[in-house]
Amino acid sequence: MRIGILALQGAVREHQRMVEACGQEAVAIKRVDELTHIDGLILPGGESTTMRRLMDRYGFTEALRESALPMFGTCAGVILLAERVIGQEEGHLGKLDVTVERNSFGRQVDSFEAELDVRGLEEKALAVFIRAPHIDATGEDVQVLSKVGEKIVAVRSDRHLGISFHPELTDSLLFHRYFIDMVKENMAKEVLA
Ligand code: GLN
Repeated sequence: MRIGILALQGAVREHQRMVEACGQEAVAIKRVDELTHIDGLILPGGESTTMRRLMDRYGFTEALRESALPMFGTCAGVILLAERVIGQEEGHLGKLDVTVERNSFGRQVDSFEAELDVRGLEEKALAVFIRAPHIDATGEDVQVLSKVGEKIVAVRSDRHLGISFHPELTDSLLFHRYFIDMVKENMAKEVLA
């Protein structure tokens, strides 16, 4: 299995290290034509408006809107995946039927760590939040996986996983393993179809 990491901006190397620690091949994706060589794509954290500009410039916005690849967005990445972003007229890629709010944990707490309970997982996940968004509303086909207080911070649909935080800045491989399992399920479905 080959997992791509969108390598326009943000925490690319850290994700590569996590994917490799899960025993899979990690590929930094810099050109649209490289999307055909991978089975799943990680959209890293960074700054969503900057990433969107670079995605437009290099043709990724259109290619990813049309792509059926499983995708995993962390922090800025979940903002890119969301159908709706509070305060913006339109979402970026419109992959996950959720509404996100940017920088929503308050100015005083720019960053913090938390141990999260995650639906379907027995272990707690250590998570680092940096100027993190939260998920304000979810559509029917979206499952809530985790919350901090009342705020939703992890969700999934059939092929898309979105989280508000940075697992790649911890030693916890839980979410990367979770995504790799989603990619495996998707590959199995494609073989049957
Ligand atoms: N605040 C950033 C944004 O709105 C996301 C921060 C992050 O990815 N750590 O895009």
